[in-house]
Amino acid sequence: MHLKSLTLKGFKSFASPTTLRFEPGITCVVGPNGSGKSNVVDAIAWVLGEQGAKALRGGKMEDVIFAGTTGRAPLGRAEVTLTIDNSDGALPIDYTEVSITRRMFRTGEGEYEINGDRCRLLDIQELLSDSGIGREMHVLVGQGRLDGILHAKPEDRRAFIEEAAGVLKHRKRKEKALRK
Ligand code: ATP
Ligand code: MG
Repeated sequence: MHLKSLTLKGFKSFASPTTLRFEPGITCVVGPNGSGKSNVVDAIAWVLGEQGAKALRGGKMEDVIFAGTTGRAPLGRAEVTLTIDNSDGALPIDYTEVSITRRMFRTGEGEYEINGDRCRLLDIQELLSDSGIGREMHVLVGQGRLDGILHAKPEDRRAFIEEAAGVLKHRKRKEKALRK
């Protein structure tokens, strides 16, 4: 399993639809300061369900929508699609390629899709829960994050270890069952 491509439409500085294709192995994104490298990483976190504006380096969630520049009007929505190569069947779904889409409008409304079908964020979380990627998985290690883990309170560090051990998924299912 590997990330195949990422398409951004109206997400942060990416006003025009932009697709980045990734090959298996290591990908480096290079460019001048302010050219949008971190925005690409934010887009991956966002499409996987990130709910915190701060984690996306904004003040409010609306900040992910292209805000306009001197020559270009603001847009009304942001959309990101992440396509994952699933030819090894690592994701429990009958497709060799899985596309996850998240869309958000200035009204605050948002939606998610798996391979073009509307779904809940929970469906995406469940699909990815054993794969090692996903919103709460520590696959995106930002600057300063490592320090945070090293200096965390014992209970926070425990949550980190539980996640790495794959316990988190079962706790989420338990919480969901208890809510019913
Ligand atoms: P550095 O090398 O300094 O880390 P970077 O390549 O990571 O830079 P980013 O932080 O990804 O750069 O991009 C910052 C740019 O994105 C800024 O110019 C900022 O104005 C622009 N930007 C962020 N959010 C939006 C938005 N909602 N609408 C338009 N532009 C935005
Ligand atoms: Mg950056």
